Amino acid sequence: MSLDDRDVELVRRTAEVVYEGDHSNLPSDGAVHCKNGPEFNLASTLGDGLGCHAGNDMRAAAAAAGKSETLKRLAADYPRGPHDQPQSMCPAFGSLRVGLRMRRTATVLSGSACCVYGLTFTSHFYGARRTVGYVPFNSETLVTGKLFEDIREAVFKLADPALYDAVVIINLCVPTASGVPLQLLPKEINGVRIIGIDVPGFGVPTHAEAKDVLAGAMLAYARTEAERGPVQAPREKLSDRPSVTLLGEVFPADPVGIGLMLGPLGLSAGPAVPTREWRELYVALDCAAVAALHPFYTASIREFTTAGRAIVGSAPVGYDGTATWLDAIGTACGIASTTIAATQNKFLPAIRGALAKAPIKGRITLSGYEGSELLVARLLIESGADVPYVGTACPRTPWSDADREWLEAKGAHVQYRASLEQDLAAVVELQPDLAIGTTPVVQKAKSMAIPALYFTNLISARPLLGVIGAGSLAQVVNAAIASKARFERMKNFFSGIGEGFAAGIWEAAPRDHSEFRDRYKRQVERAAMARKTQGEPV
Ligand code: SF4
Repeated sequence: MSLDDRDVELVRRTAEVVYEGDHSNLPSDGAVHCKNGPEFNLASTLGDGLGCHAGNDMRAAAAAAGKSETLKRLAADYPRGPHDQPQSMCPAFGSLRVGLRMRRTATVLSGSACCVYGLTFTSHFYGARRTVGYVPFNSETLVTGKLFEDIREAVFKLADPALYDAVVIINLCVPTASGVPLQLLPKEINGVRIIGIDVPGFGVPTHAEAKDVLAGAMLAYARTEAERGPVQAPREKLSDRPSVTLLGEVFPADPVGIGLMLGPLGLSAGPAVPTREWRELYVALDCAAVAALHPFYTASIREFTTAGRAIVGSAPVGYDGTATWLDAIGTACGIASTTIAATQNKFLPAIRGALAKAPIKGRITLSGYEGSELLVARLLIESGADVPYVGTACPRTPWSDADREWLEAKGAHVQYRASLEQDLAAVVELQPDLAIGTTPVVQKAKSMAIPALYFTNLISARPLLGVIGAGSLAQVVNAAIASKARFERMKNFFSGIGEGFAAGIWEAAPRDHSEFRDRYKRQVERAAMARKTQGEPV
């Protein structure tokens, strides 16, 4: 078959959105009232100390309140590990951010006021410039089921088709634990789609995975719409070539760079998921293949797989990664091996050249919770750095196997579901020239006079992929490594000030009251022993 014939065949195959699989969750019209739903379980959620770190209690409460199926699905999609409690921001922020970034989408939170305050603050800190909806509750509205009626009323008020394509309702920890049945909301009001999701911190370990909870729910809805008939066309005319959907939030220049590399293969870059508009979901589903650039989008991948789309893991990162990825994408889309080889020959020398022009020397530990940690580590190693430790808060999935194997072959230890303690231990033991990590890791490294860079703001906010990404990290990384002497001077200057028991602001000379800590420690140990004796979780 010639290239032209193959292109025609690919266009024919992918132009039809024909899906397979279980259709039992087709959206139904018509409202369902909460009195048909499960019993609310208020008592089990009102004890002392519930919140981010009360996972077991909240999980048990949610199961008792009829959320067993939801918990089972979350546990399968986002398996827990040592990092099974929020150790960074509230996971629900991931879903909230996806909703807030979409055009014509209203996003509403249902949860404790303190959680909603934090999530709203974080949203605006990251420049949301959109309203965060909130349906407040109190003990009475929670226990009587009135909260669900309030949510339902809010949804009906919001569902104006002139303003919105979709209204998203996110159950946080307490409403999930008490069984607020968002699944009983109407699936559609006046043509506005209603998406209710449970995103409890005790079921979704990271905010990265929470992005997948909403993206997966939207893809499932859009897939069933496409199965039932014609759907809204994209806002802008797309390439006539078969497209590759990009899964994961990447730097804006990366899809452009990927599109340049896909051109010679006869393909084009499709939308990035999570999408910025509802109608892009149809285009995302109508692809030749899906590039799982971020490997933790389990629910989204399930939807694409159900739609019959091939999934390709890893990403075009550095020389080796780009070579393998072009081959895998080309093969998944039925491109001739000679065309794949010609495309590799066109771009790989440029990547090698860019890496050689921007070398990095030094030992770097790397940790984060964005899901792109393994890709960044690959780029650092190909730039010349020694990277002995890579920690990611995200779970191991088949879509990052190629990256893990490549890194392990280069001597790196890859820690999935890394806890903060593991990330800190790596910095202490390995004494790197630079620590890239989350805020507490950066803080610890700097206190040891080790230069450090915050992963989210300084590393993942750069292009990483293809020719554009090669060499993009060298400037910031080399500048940080070169600042070692400045950190040593600061450490010497501040040495002994405000550390340990003397930390903080004192009106008198600080005194160590370690006897208080010892007393509370003994009380906590006695309480744990008593719970153990009574057969309760310790
Ligand atoms: S909703 Fe978020 S902030 Fe609130 S208790 Fe759950 S994990 Fe913590």
